[in-house]
Amino acid sequence: METLLENDVMIDENISQIMDWDSLTFSIYPTKSMFIAECDENGEWRTGNLVPYGDIKLSPAAGVLNYGQGVFEGVKAFRSSKDRIVFFRLEKNAERFYTSCERVCIPPVPVELFMKAVENVVKDNSDYVPPNGKGSLYIRPVAWGTGPVLGVKPAPSYTFLVYVSPVGPYFKNGVKPLNLKVTNRYHRAAPKGIGNAKAIGNYSASLYPRKLAINEGFDEVIYLNAADENLVEEVGSANLFALKGNVLKTPRLAGSILPGVTRNSALFLAKEELGLDVQETDLTLDELLNADEAFCTGTAVVISPIGRISTDDAPYVIGDGNTGKVTSQLREMILGIQSETTKDKFGWIKPLNS
Ligand SMILES: *Cc1c(COP(=O)(O)O)cnc(C)c1O
Repeated sequence: METLLENDVMIDENISQIMDWDSLTFSIYPTKSMFIAECDENGEWRTGNLVPYGDIKLSPAAGVLNYGQGVFEGVKAFRSSKDRIVFFRLEKNAERFYTSCERVCIPPVPVELFMKAVENVVKDNSDYVPPNGKGSLYIRPVAWGTGPVLGVKPAPSYTFLVYVSPVGPYFKNGVKPLNLKVTNRYHRAAPKGIGNAKAIGNYSASLYPRKLAINEGFDEVIYLNAADENLVEEVGSANLFALKGNVLKTPRLAGSILPGVTRNSALFLAKEELGLDVQETDLTLDELLNADEAFCTGTAVVISPIGRISTDDAPYVIGDGNTGKVTSQLREMILGIQSETTKDKFGWIKPLNS
């Protein structure tokens, strides 16, 4: 066993009384427990169990440390207006975790194990799910190569871990339209690379361009297509949309873009509920800069309006720089479904315990 648990954390007794729910940000807050399962040489995942939240011990030669053999997911549990805890399209995350694992040679975590692990952690940490409207419980499943390797090859053993943290809004300014920078100097992912997997290495590649953009006063980076720099791809950890008239475009899933669950939901709602002409297609930088509305989508950011975009040449205002009508309609629809203030017409909500 390469992964051992250390340092049980102190558990507050009356968490909901102690927590200052109004000051939650998108950051890590230690909770009661986490789920952990192991997979050894035979490639079979063991059942796993809940353990106190805390540090883990790792071999210096662990595959994940040396060769970045790791994947993750990001899911939320909500305390809805019906005062119950619900998940939004959780099985989509389970399926994506499976395919992300396959891409980096981690024995894929079975969908049932993923679902059970997430449900058990949330149940055990239910005191940390913020009250309706105050935020959500962010769930972070991770799997990595645990066993020692020296040459570049898949690790001999693996760990699947799920931890949680109560979170507030992702961007500190709430839904104030974002100010983004298009980078010409760096790509996030290449065609036929690992951009369509939630593989950890993609995110280390984005840290430096993001740091440069933040130092210049931007909120995030927009990446261009590595094969054709006239096309936009996505934001560091969110998908990108542009509306012009009745046409809503988002870059098609051609291998280097992460297939977002929120992206898929926004496309569906825009077509079915708003009657827009939705297109998964090439999206040029020009089209984005001249859009009536632009927004990005992700579990963490939900639907966030984009107010300004700068290239190396010039700053551009999108629409009138404020949150567009379609952007707020889509945002409200998704938030409404997640908080169960709107009817769940599409079967996207799954209550805990059922
Ligand atoms: C996670 C992620 C998204 C958003 O996916 P959701 O399933 O909507 O949360 C978009 N782009 C990248 C690169 C991501 O890692």
